[in-house]
Amino acid sequence: MHIVMIASECAPVSKVGGLADVVSGLSRELELRGNLIEIILPKYDCMRYDHIWGLHVAYHDLWVPWGNGAIHCSVWFGFVHGRKCFFIDPHSHDNFFNRDNYYGYPDDAMRFAFFSKAALEFLYKTGKQPDIIHCHDWQTGLVPVLLYEIYEAQGLNHPRVCYSIHNFRFQGITGTDILSATQLNRPEYYQHYDRLQDNTHPTALNFMKAGIVYSNFITTVSPTHAWEALHTEQGYGLGDTLHIHKDKFAGILNGLDYEVWNPEIDPLIPYHYNIDNLDNKYANKEALRDRLLLRKDFKPIIAFVGRLDVQKGVHLIRHAIFYTLQNGAQFILLGNSPESNINNEFLQLKAELNDNEDCHLEIGFDEELAHLIYAGSDMIIMPSLYEPCGLTQLIALRYGTVPIVRSVGGLADTIFDRDFSDKPITARNGYVFHEADYMGIESAMQRAIGLWRDYPEHFQRLIKQGMQYNYSWHRSGQLYLDIYEKIRNK
Ligand code: ADP
Repeated sequence: MHIVMIASECAPVSKVGGLADVVSGLSRELELRGNLIEIILPKYDCMRYDHIWGLHVAYHDLWVPWGNGAIHCSVWFGFVHGRKCFFIDPHSHDNFFNRDNYYGYPDDAMRFAFFSKAALEFLYKTGKQPDIIHCHDWQTGLVPVLLYEIYEAQGLNHPRVCYSIHNFRFQGITGTDILSATQLNRPEYYQHYDRLQDNTHPTALNFMKAGIVYSNFITTVSPTHAWEALHTEQGYGLGDTLHIHKDKFAGILNGLDYEVWNPEIDPLIPYHYNIDNLDNKYANKEALRDRLLLRKDFKPIIAFVGRLDVQKGVHLIRHAIFYTLQNGAQFILLGNSPESNINNEFLQLKAELNDNEDCHLEIGFDEELAHLIYAGSDMIIMPSLYEPCGLTQLIALRYGTVPIVRSVGGLADTIFDRDFSDKPITARNGYVFHEADYMGIESAMQRAIGLWRDYPEHFQRLIKQGMQYNYSWHRSGQLYLDIYEKIRNK
């Protein structure tokens, strides 16, 4: 099958969170199974160019119809860890992608509407007719609209669209000026409840709703989150739309790229290890302490790696730092937030704890350090308020780091409490709490720290049970292929 991914992120070149890992990991799995995969991305100034091989202009003069005229683009090609990637590079005074960050600008909706249109224009002009276009999150929600309302009639009539939602909170809610810019026009047609009109703000359009309405199939990233999106406030206003389209909606658990996340070969950690040789995990723990100037002591290291977003339970992360320090353990945090008030809160905390040799807070994005933290820590916390899938806990399992998670979304589908679970004792792999409050997280952390200190052999058994889980793309890759097969034959 010929599959084109259209996305705003792809690991490790342009990565903000799990979306990037999914685009690269799923693409690799599909390619290993003999499919042709091409990935279309924006050409951001702030990308990691050191991870692109053979970058060159593959298509010089792509004129993308826009507003009353057209914008001139170049399309670059390069390999990202073996994946074939095209990068859209518009030459306009809007400077859509020549910025310091990936997101967070007032014209984000316009930027990604343009990207969606340019990606289709590129397919159309180059005569590519993929079997499947797989697009992701609000940034590419207009792709199926543009495909079926404009490009199909022009001859781009073969592809079917699969649309994956990684986070319902960010939907691309915007004004109707997008319609004239993209040349969809006809506001009376699109600004309708059955099409692009936002369910809560009737004067606005909603990109994610557009993706749901127009795609041939919609997925979200875990079975539990699919249920939550349909039946709880976690659909963020799109529950009704999902109900209408529920026959083409399913939850598929994300996999993890086991080539990238593998402690046996990971080039970003100093000591390699596996389930039969955990000694080197402890060598990484010492290396981590050396790097972050933490005290060498008989204490477990508890870590948090992730976006510092309200979604991640920021108040509980903060509480966990103090609880850890009061209970004879060490804490490492690696995270950042586009919201300056959250960033500032943690920068202030960092300053307060600066002299504490049992604690290190790193405010920023650092792929290399993240790998060392996964390898060198004993436990990782994820007190998320909601979590569509979560990759951090899957990476932690793979690196023998025990996850302590709140039972929500994909965390509920992947982590099973050591003491209280329906799973057989030998299939349990972490600690789980339910209420998003201090008592909840403390109860789980207390049990984890207690086991580490008082029953080290049992703790090691728990580590190994986690490492035995296989959350690679193998199974979910097949589920996506089944969906592609189903929609292309319709
Ligand atoms: P989300 O998609 O909500 O951000 P996930 O758990 O699905 O959360 O994926 C997070 C991914 O991003 C993981 O690969 C994690 O290691 C990485 N990550 C998040 N924040 C950082 C950071 N500050 N530095 C390095 N890697 C990070």
